[in-house]
Amino acid sequence: GYHKILEENRKLYNQVQDLKGNIRVYCRVRPFLPGQSNLSTVGHIDDGSITILTPPKYGKEGHKSFTFNKVFGPFATQEEVFSDTQPLIRSVLDGYNVCIFAYGQTGAGKTYTMSGPKVLTEQSFGVNYRALNDLFHISKERKDTFCYEISVQMIEIYNEQVRDLLASDGPHKRYPSILFLLKFSPFCPRKPLHVDTLDIRNSSQTGFAVPDANSVPVTSTTEVIELMDIGQKNRAVSATSMNDRSSRSHSCLTIHVQGRELASGAFVRGSMHLVDLAGSERVNKSEVKGDRLKEAQHINKSLAALGDVISALAQKSSHIPYRNSKLTQLLQDSLGGQAKTLMFVHISPEADAISETLSTLKFAERVAMVELGAAQVNKDNGEVKELRLQVASLKAALAKKE
Ligand code: ADP
Ligand code: MG
Repeated sequence: GYHKILEENRKLYNQVQDLKGNIRVYCRVRPFLPGQSNLSTVGHIDDGSITILTPPKYGKEGHKSFTFNKVFGPFATQEEVFSDTQPLIRSVLDGYNVCIFAYGQTGAGKTYTMSGPKVLTEQSFGVNYRALNDLFHISKERKDTFCYEISVQMIEIYNEQVRDLLASDGPHKRYPSILFLLKFSPFCPRKPLHVDTLDIRNSSQTGFAVPDANSVPVTSTTEVIELMDIGQKNRAVSATSMNDRSSRSHSCLTIHVQGRELASGAFVRGSMHLVDLAGSERVNKSEVKGDRLKEAQHINKSLAALGDVISALAQKSSHIPYRNSKLTQLLQDSLGGQAKTLMFVHISPEADAISETLSTLKFAERVAMVELGAAQVNKDNGEVKELRLQVASLKAALAKKE
């Protein structure tokens, strides 16, 4: 009897492990910024859970706990945060689709995690730079067995319109880096900015993508830094001091990787979306009007669509409502059975953020409960292909040692 129960239990445990593999939720708490009050709502933090201290109107207990795959406290470094992300990066080169996104209210640290602070140093590089850096490194390690091409796109979704942040006639066209861009890809002139929203289209080669946005081949981190700088400047351009545009649009850095196995000539394609989402704060409808109200409605709609897609996946629903927002259309191949997804949820520790903090954590918990099927490589015969890739890279490693 008891033995059988334990065995059942182990089976269940393994199943859960498998299912949990494809979607991970990490929570990150921002430290207090200089000059802020330090009344913190964050109570206990350990590796996988966080307790929030709540005022009486949220219930008698006075606290609420949430469990995630990982919780990073206010002292976690960019390096620590990235080290738990690294296995995902490697899998892009093996032909998986990966999506990493940053969720949370404005000011909670989304851009810090993805890109870093305004003034970048090597220690403060965010996930974007580190991910590309890793891709370059690993592809070099595999150069005896694979030839990889890596290219990036940067787009923005604002009011349900998709814009190319690397367009040649974007607001920052006079930025000197354009010269650099033209220099390193003379055969690949940049496409101009489309006035209308760009289309998200499906193709057998790249899956759901924005084919009309510039896709720039990259080979080094220096190039990436230049590109991201242009993208970020183009994104911020219509911001006024009062209303930071960057917090009201989703920005997405997409990395396409194509690898050719030298021995067989077979191609492997993987992609990674790194998404800095619009601020998740609810806007009081009685306080905003006109453009602000429209923006708020678009943001609510697309974040809700994201939540709906994830819960439909969780319920293994036959219809997954990807088409309800541009965001979920774009991420279609990166959310679901074929892909690996990581969500960083960010919270601010301040007492006046308590209601946003709780709603952020509730959204995140809904995502963390998703059970997806095992991720598949972008191949008809994914498993075989993956095993072959492993054999190839092991052989290469062996050859190096000899
Ligand atoms: P969001 O993109 O969510 O609106 P930001 O990333 O811009 O928030 O963060 C708001 C401010 O807090 C910025 O000045 C940023 O540099 C700082 N910040 C955020 N997270 C951290 C962190 N983990 N460590 C130090 N400073 C941080
Ligand atoms: Mg931001």
